Amino acid sequence: MKEIAYPVWAISAQWEYKTPEGWKYNSTYFKVSSKDNIFDEQLWWEEYHNKKFEHKLIKLDKILLGEFTWWMKWFCHVNLNYHNNEQGAFESFERFLEETYGSIILDVHDYSSMHKDTYLNKVTNKEDCIMGAEERWRWKFCGCEQCKKEQITIVKH
Ligand SMILES: [Zn+2]
Repeated sequence: MKEIAYPVWAISAQWEYKTPEGWKYNSTYFKVSSKDNIFDEQLWWEEYHNKKFEHKLIKLDKILLGEFTWWMKWFCHVNLNYHNNEQGAFESFERFLEETYGSIILDVHDYSSMHKDTYLNKVTNKEDCIMGAEERWRWKFCGCEQCKKEQITIVKH
């Protein structure tokens, strides 16, 4: 199966929100991709921020990291290409990890690497925490109805 690489962006936001005790600070950071090749961070912010609180947006950044088949969410990776079985999904995921982080990922018996939780991302040249994705035994193919409906693939780890 020929997979399509889609743009992956890093979104970061910082804001202050008003509480009965005064103004407090909060922030978020996540990666996102889109089959439409666009992501409207302003629209995301409007839907995301808690409308119960008065707030001041300090900073909202969108950085294009490149085009990839997989991107990381909270203890899972998502692929906007659809794999209907575990084997195809795992092969694709392994290829992605190898290309992005190198062969250390592939040696599940390398226990010296087990407790390292950051890896040098060959693409961005920055260290990434990959939330356990380096250990194959954590991988779990999602394959739910929602994945099928959206024609996406999720591997949890
Ligand atoms: Zn699913």
